Amino acid sequence: MTTQHESVVYPPSAETVARAHVDAAGYEQMYAASITDPDAFWGEQGKRIDWIKPYSQVKDVNYNFGEVSINWYSDGALNVSANCIDRHLATRGDQTAIIFEPDNPDEPAQNITYKQLHGSVCRMANVLTSMGVTKGDRVIIYMPMIPEAAYAMLACARIGAIHSIVFAGFSPDALAARVNGSDAKVVITADHAPRGGRQTPLKSNADAALLHCKEDVKCLVVKRTGGQTTWIEGRDYNYNALSAAADDSFAPVEMNAEDPLFILYTSGSTGQPKGVVHTTGGYLVYAAMTHEITFDYHDGDVYWCTADVGWVTGHSYIVYGPLANGATTLMFEGVPTYPDASRFWQVCEKHKVNQFYTAPTALRALMGQGNEWVEKCDLSSLRTLGTVGEPINPEAWNWYNEVIGGGRCPIVDTWWQTETGGHLMTPLPGAHAMKPGSAMKPFFGIVPVVLDPQSGVEIEGNDVDGVLCIKDSWPGQMRTIWGDHERFQKTYFADYKGYYFTGDGCKRDADGDYWITGRVDDVINVSGHRMGTAEVESALVAHVAVAEAAVVGYPHDIKGQGIYCYVTLMNDAEPSDALLKELRTWVRTEIGPIASPDVIQWAPGLPKTRSGKIMRRILRKIAENDFGSLGDTSTLADPSVVDDLIANRSGK
Ligand code: ATP
Ligand code: MG
Repeated sequence: MTTQHESVVYPPSAETVARAHVDAAGYEQMYAASITDPDAFWGEQGKRIDWIKPYSQVKDVNYNFGEVSINWYSDGALNVSANCIDRHLATRGDQTAIIFEPDNPDEPAQNITYKQLHGSVCRMANVLTSMGVTKGDRVIIYMPMIPEAAYAMLACARIGAIHSIVFAGFSPDALAARVNGSDAKVVITADHAPRGGRQTPLKSNADAALLHCKEDVKCLVVKRTGGQTTWIEGRDYNYNALSAAADDSFAPVEMNAEDPLFILYTSGSTGQPKGVVHTTGGYLVYAAMTHEITFDYHDGDVYWCTADVGWVTGHSYIVYGPLANGATTLMFEGVPTYPDASRFWQVCEKHKVNQFYTAPTALRALMGQGNEWVEKCDLSSLRTLGTVGEPINPEAWNWYNEVIGGGRCPIVDTWWQTETGGHLMTPLPGAHAMKPGSAMKPFFGIVPVVLDPQSGVEIEGNDVDGVLCIKDSWPGQMRTIWGDHERFQKTYFADYKGYYFTGDGCKRDADGDYWITGRVDDVINVSGHRMGTAEVESALVAHVAVAEAAVVGYPHDIKGQGIYCYVTLMNDAEPSDALLKELRTWVRTEIGPIASPDVIQWAPGLPKTRSGKIMRRILRKIAENDFGSLGDTSTLADPSVVDDLIANRSGK
């Protein structure tokens, strides 16, 4: 079934094609090469980065359940921080590596050159070493979005310590769980984290967390606001004093390609967060390559990814990918709506941003504020726009394209996961046409397959949908779940033998382009028709009165599953029976009678993870009238939203 928005196609402009690293013919040729001879292809791509010891082996992978093992470049040695810093010093030592834009627009921005970055990272590496951190130790980073967060990541990489970043919005409990889960030696934090004009007391959160951790865990404290903190002599270390006195050189430690680089917990949208482990060589090759090609990054460009370093997007596309490429990467401490809804666009104008990468949740929020916030800013520097995190509904896509990009900028709708290390599917500027809401094409080396969810058999041909799996490995793939290889195999390799199971549903349209339909758990089966929740949500959000929508299935006597919609209205819209009827009719005409909502509940807010994703598993429980087992809610941004939804649950 082809829905109406699938037929809207935006080919790349001649200007985009002329500039792009890869054009349509180039993509076809490179993609074919990457699939027919992965060893040769990735052997060549591995040269993007510098090796202390070259590899002789490229790919060594076993996807068989029970013996899963993933290795790339496994006899090579390198250091990630040397690749992100030292190798650029001769040619671009005075180029800005990091632009820091503080939360408060009146505070000056900072431009940190590659030379300065080198000094700061070496000093931090010396400080950590003096605290007893050595190769293989785990270090927790619980920091605001300040340059010191990047220094901390790169200092760990320089020493060979494994970092695990905990988003600064997380509670002491969540922090303690991650300190203990990774058996960390040190927690790096800051006094306070300014964000959106408010301040989170990070150090006191860390103090509270450390009460539940081993006594010998040390705490390195960076001064951000200078605000008051408690100090525990012997346990707490003053970063600013120590780094000022530290040596500004530190020899990068030689790491095997398969030594772990970091552990990162997933968002927890579908269950208990998983401690995803990424390693050194393959991860960096993949992050660097995707950063350059997906965003069409060119030397001298200013690149901005609005994510937080607490998410994988911040790892691969604020720090490691861009810096490995010698790029100028912007770190923003604040939020899109502070001091007002113009902030993102002001920052774009101020720093002449060329590539801008954000999430649909931010776009939807800003779209709701009106275009005047955008129109007063000069966005002419923008060239590539990117989105990640959730399916982007065509409504938001069109706004991004027209109002932000002025119709000139390709939009890369990048589908990937914490587990994948980098983009797996996205249109490439200059190589592919775009369709609003479609991740379009696989990246090099990626073979997506659509499986029948029951039989696990590959569904051939186009205009089909099912479960999305990946046929073979790629260098950026996660290697294991920290301390639990069993769970790793069970989660990703048990249900569909011989494939990497993504957990997402997907549709390959009549042209062979890919659409992520949401998580497999979220696919609903109405009277035998399988439907992605994303599709119904997109239809709802396309109505003028609707700001946001989340759709789940619930048991229905006749249809098997019914369609339960949680709808957040625009500020100026009022809930009414008439509007309810109108929305039902609207969805029927947008998609078809089969998608007609059974229940619509007005929702002043939706339960979201701290990274802005809707937690449908909670909404499913509410729809099922099963409030007792909401599961892990520790990564929810605002737990009170759930109480409200339960209290106002619609009687069906
Ligand atoms: P958990 O695995 O703990 O439930 P999570 O899946 O939300 O959490 P992430 O790794 O942060 O953790 O998110 C990856 C998921 O986000 C993908 O599997 C997919 O469902 C969704 N996603 C990311 N980018 C896109 C995109 N461009 N289009 C559609 N969906 C996307
Ligand atoms: Mg996931």
